[in-house]
Amino acid sequence: MLVIQVLMHPAVSGLILMGVIGALTYKLGFVDISGLISAFVVGFTVWYTGGAGAFTILLFFFVSAGLATKFKYKAKAKKNLAQEGKGKRSWKNVFGSGLIPMLFSIGVYVSQMFADQGLIDASIPFWMFGGFIGAVATTSADTLASEVGVFSKSKPRLITNLRRRVPAGTIGGVSLLGEAVALFAGFAIGLIALVYAMFAPGILPITNPSQMLFVLPLSVLTAFIGCNLDSLIGAVAQNRYVCDICGAITDKEFHCGYETKYVGGFKRFTNMHVNFGSSGMGAALGVVLGAGLFVWILGGLFFWLLASSSS
Ligand SMILES: [Zn+2]
Repeated sequence: MLVIQVLMHPAVSGLILMGVIGALTYKLGFVDISGLISAFVVGFTVWYTGGAGAFTILLFFFVSAGLATKFKYKAKAKKNLAQEGKGKRSWKNVFGSGLIPMLFSIGVYVSQMFADQGLIDASIPFWMFGGFIGAVATTSADTLASEVGVFSKSKPRLITNLRRRVPAGTIGGVSLLGEAVALFAGFAIGLIALVYAMFAPGILPITNPSQMLFVLPLSVLTAFIGCNLDSLIGAVAQNRYVCDICGAITDKEFHCGYETKYVGGFKRFTNMHVNFGSSGMGAALGVVLGAGLFVWILGGLFFWLLASSSS
């Protein structure tokens, strides 16, 4: 019996689980060694602090991002649209998208302790969980939208000027296909949370009917807004280079076999910083939505769409 008790301890079960998932995903080529170690840190922390529910959501991101990166990799590589290093993610990718969710998972854990002792309001763990969802939904939506969206039949448009069509892979380029994929990612994550709340109550900090009602729209909205914020931050601030051969604006210093020319953005502001910033904003959105302030976000979204479609 003692053996089972030891195995059931979250630290032990976490180590075993991370070992199995780590070995599998490393074999599948989702991550390199640095990515594996950092994914272990993020995964174990989320498992230990957020429990099985939060971990399933993180796992959805990890597996779907890995599969999407591998999806038609050769076709993407041919068009210079693929991730470098055979699509293996390094610590920069993992921490860029995993650090904020990890912090909010710790936030759920700590606030739950305080709430259990009656020191803080009982709904605060759900706000923290909203931040967790917002961050994971944003990075999932962004990763899936970029990896799948490049196959859009119609040319993407620039998020800072929606009338301008740009080549696939351009920083800040958005397409209908990408937006649809982003919405799907948000829906899938919200659904995982909802299923846990309905069939395994107590695992996630979803304790009342209104939180259950909020969680799916929260996930869809943060995925959609966060993913577009990512494109916006990328278009405005990320380092970008132009390829003289095909005219693409990329973050790569080499394109079509030749060196590219620096054209703008902050030179040290890379995709990792963009992801970090957008997942932070996604988390902030998630906290606001978790607190039930949907009107603010929906109102903001309405005016944003109005402004960007009239410019
Ligand atoms: Zn090129």
